[in-house]
This record gives sequence, structure tokens and C-alpha cells, in this order.
Amino acid sequence: MHDIDEIQTVGVVGAGTMGHGITQVAATHGYDVVMRDVEQEFVDDGLAAIESSLDRFVDKGEMSADERAATLGRIIGTTELADLADADIVVEAVVEKMAIKRDVFADLAEVTDDDVVLATNTSTLSVTSIAAATDRAARVVGLHFMNPVPVMDGVEVVVGERTADETTALAHAFAETLDKETWEADDKPGFVSNRILMPWINEGIRAFDEGVATKEDIDRGMRLGTNVPMGPLELADHIGLDVCLDATETLHQELGDRYAPAYLLRRKVEAGDLGKKTGRGFYEYD
Ligand code: NAD
Repeated sequence: MHDIDEIQTVGVVGAGTMGHGITQVAATHGYDVVMRDVEQEFVDDGLAAIESSLDRFVDKGEMSADERAATLGRIIGTTELADLADADIVVEAVVEKMAIKRDVFADLAEVTDDDVVLATNTSTLSVTSIAAATDRAARVVGLHFMNPVPVMDGVEVVVGERTADETTALAHAFAETLDKETWEADDKPGFVSNRILMPWINEGIRAFDEGVATKEDIDRGMRLGTNVPMGPLELADHIGLDVCLDATETLHQELGDRYAPAYLLRRKVEAGDLGKKTGRGFYEYD
């Protein structure tokens, strides 16, 4: 297995919210990054989002124009799986569907060297089940970045049933090279973060749907009352209502009725109102 100092090229699968964020942070920290999505349009959207995020760092004086150019120069966007062949570590950030993640991991095990660590950014799915789609379960680990990746300090390392100790150690070390702090969770539904966060969001949605308060007052009440930066409904819009529904459905399936997704969460996702990314969720966005 690679030592942390031998990692030069990072593969990222998925160029959406999390994939482009992970790509940006890895490239900012000096890694060469190959970011892969299924359609060129999604790759281009991911690259454009990275450019505008870097622009904001330059505008705030936190990055020079040269650093911005050098960061972009380290990123290759592609739709070809084969372009991940030279990756020294891969982080997967595709949609939160087990069947799709298992297919992606089976493909990754084919194209990368046998000892390359394959990490999943899954929010709630079993790392052990994802790993079982490969022939190298010992090299599969959860590396759960938080959204927005360039801003959030923490990364959750999730240890699957067959994850080797050195793989877990490499996952921590890799996140630390990105200036992130880590914590570790066992491969149980929702790990630490989403096991606690998703029921909180879901209960906020139920409280809104059942007329406990306006959406603004639910968010304001939780912000002022518990000192969190965002209330449950604004946070749900920020994460993406489809992501919240997928995560809550997994918790419901694995842990029982207390986790059943709120009716209004399902209805909004069916309507295509997914939060900030579609311009409308609980709130409206330009
Ligand atoms: P997203 O919908 O923004 O992006 C997913 C991307 O994956 C899309 O661009 C899609 O085209 C691409 N994709 C689908 N199948 C693919 C394949 N076979 N190969 C390559 N790309 C493929 O989703 P997201 O919010 O970035 O979430 C990605 C993962 O990160 C999920 O597992 C999610 O649970 C997790 N996560 C999300 C958040 C969040 O706040 N959004 C936070 C932490 C973790």
C-alpha cells in the first residue's frame, strides 16, 4: 500500500457538489487530481464551480492569482474511467444509491492498482457492502467530507468490517494533508454525523408540515436556541433534499420507524424542489 508521502495523484469519482469540492481541496493542497463524471456536461459544471469558488478565495485575498492558476492546472476533468488508472488513492462521491456505488467500486477495482485505497464519501450507506463489490475490501474505507468541502474543517473516517488498520490510518493521514481534522466511526447506519443530523432535519420538516411554526421561525428558533449556524430547513436546502431523503430512507430501513422520512420531504423531492441546487426547496434562491 502507498505511504502517505507517495500519494501524488488523487482520483475523484463524481463532479457534483461533493466531488468538485473534494477535487478543489485536493488540488489546492498540491495533489494532481483526475475528476470523473458520466457526462462531459457534469464534468464542465464541476470545473466551472471550482473556478468560481477559487475566484472567491482570490477576491477575499486568501489566494493569489498564481495559486489559483496552479490549482486549476493540477485538475483533469474526464468522462473516461480509464483515466483513473494512475490514481494513488480514489475518493468516490457519486449519488447515494448502493447499486450505483457498488458498480463504481467494482469498476475502480478493475482499473486501479491492487493496493490503491478506494474511499467512499457515502453519507449513510454501508462501507462494508460497498467494499464487498471489490476484490480488496481491506483497502476500502469511508472518507466522509462535509459540505462545502473547502470550508468545513472536519472529515469522518468510517471503518468497514474488513477495512485494514493501515487503510484507516492512511485515510486519517490523507484528510490531515488537506488541513482537515478527523473523527472515526464504525460502519453503522449514518455513522456519527448523519445518524444524529438527519433525524434532526427530518423532525424540523415534520414540525413545519404539522404547523408548529413558520419555516423561518423553526430555523431561527434552532439557530438562536441551540447556537447552530443553520436551522434544519435551511440546512436541508443546502445539503439537497434528494440527498436528505436518500440518507433518511437508509436510516429508516436499517433502524426502524422512528426514522421514517417526513411526508413533506418526499413530496418536495417528487416535485423536483431539491433545495439550493434547483433554486427552490423550503426557501427560494436566485
Ligand atoms: P450530486 O448529485 O451533487 O453529485 C453526484 C454526481 O455523481 C453527479 O454529478 C452524477 O452525474 C455523478 N455520477 C453518478 N453516477 C456516476 C458514475 N457511475 N461515475 C461517475 N459519476 C457519477 O451529489 P453530492 O451531493 O455531491 O453527493 C455525492 C455523495 O456525497 C453522496 O454519497 C452523498 O450522500 C455524499 N455527501 C453529500 C453531502 C451533501 O451535503 N450534499 C455531504 C456529505 C456527503
